[in-house]
Amino acid sequence: MSRQYETVIGLEVHVELATKTKIFCSCSTEFGGAPNTHTCPVCTGMPGSLPVLNKKVVEYAMAVGLATNCQITRHCKFDRKNYFYPDNPQNYQISQLYAPICRNGYVEIETESGSKKIGIHEIHMEEDAGKLIHDEWEDCSLVDYNRSGVPLIEIVSEPDMRSAEEVIAYLDKLRLIIQYLGASDCKLQEGSMRADVNLSVREVGAKEFGTRTEMKNLNSFKAIGRAIEGERARQIELLEEGKQVIQETRRWDDNKEASHAMRSKEDAQDYRYFPEPDLVPVDISEEWIEEVRSRQPELRTEKLVRYKEEFDIPEYDAKILTSSKQMADLFEAATALCGKPKKVSNWLMVETMRLLKENGQEPEDLKFSPEHLAKLVELADAGTINSTVAKEVFEHIFYDDIDPEAYVEEKGLKTVNDEGALRETIERVIAANPQSVADYKGGKEKALGFLVGQTMKEMKGKANPGMVNQILKELL
Ligand SMILES: [Zn+2]
Repeated sequence: MSRQYETVIGLEVHVELATKTKIFCSCSTEFGGAPNTHTCPVCTGMPGSLPVLNKKVVEYAMAVGLATNCQITRHCKFDRKNYFYPDNPQNYQISQLYAPICRNGYVEIETESGSKKIGIHEIHMEEDAGKLIHDEWEDCSLVDYNRSGVPLIEIVSEPDMRSAEEVIAYLDKLRLIIQYLGASDCKLQEGSMRADVNLSVREVGAKEFGTRTEMKNLNSFKAIGRAIEGERARQIELLEEGKQVIQETRRWDDNKEASHAMRSKEDAQDYRYFPEPDLVPVDISEEWIEEVRSRQPELRTEKLVRYKEEFDIPEYDAKILTSSKQMADLFEAATALCGKPKKVSNWLMVETMRLLKENGQEPEDLKFSPEHLAKLVELADAGTINSTVAKEVFEHIFYDDIDPEAYVEEKGLKTVNDEGALRETIERVIAANPQSVADYKGGKEKALGFLVGQTMKEMKGKANPGMVNQILKELL
């Protein structure tokens, strides 16, 4: 291939906000209720019903805007985006086109090639649609309006990204900011964070952008990476064959690792946007912005610095501990209880990460309490249980959040430090393994390890390994 191509990518990211109630009514936003139980005349689009804006939605949107260096629009308004689809009972969506709440921001991302600013064009507030269920009944589709009216923000980036690596770094940055703010749990798999990728290619050095396509249905970072590679290759192939890229929306099928056209891409005029007549504009005062700003929690960048200073933790560890809010919260709470940051960190970095990986889970899925982790650290530190037993107990904490003190007591797992009992067992082991004893005496160090192992087995793993070694050597 003689020509060199550059990929240009912009993202539209939808995030479901963690409010208790919907954006324009007081129905619950809770996930998973029986179909159409979290509904009322407003969120099912009944004629004559009127929307009332949820203040918390505005505050979450402002918080995300402030954390991403945006300007807050002091006089912001809602608009109607008109389209017909069965999951949208009003036949329009209340969104923002002309005066979105946040504009002109950026986030800084880190990749192999250093740090880079990704511009944020705007963030707007809107309502989610319901959900169509196609496969439960033959011959018909069902609709569940529980999700209709759940608040969303849409974060629209500038076309500043050039690779899948940059896209993933950007999404990860947004996810962490929003999670730390408590504005959403941002789970791609569950759809509380959704990314649409706008992608075009152009020859290196070209000033104009190429024709872009939009890809939907991307529900993991890996799928996003594969979709970007796939679409880039598809567009370059078209251009190399002298064909044109058509502006359209494409659906990525991650199983087939291919995309197919869904529909030709709509422009804003296709939606006949007009100012929402049922809602007054929102005037945002300087005081309100300052109030939201003053309530911003410590974000990841600040936490990273503090962990290194306050807890004397290496950069690498601090990065993993802060890679999810759930993990950082656990770390801080357990450390506050036992005062042993390095030990708490070790349990999270090693055993916790191992078990998460083994179960295909994310740190957001962690459900054990900091109290139980802190108790385990103390039990192990005091020598009440040895490291093998500690690992076993930790697995029960990880899965069932058991109380390690009660568990150790109940199962009789305390380390035996009673010299008399140990001595007795070791004498029995020595008597039963004359060959190993002879080997050891003949200079085979390995034979000692075998005898230690036999003793631990006899003691059901509860012996103090230091003492076993010492007594064995003494008796031999
Ligand atoms: Zn409702």
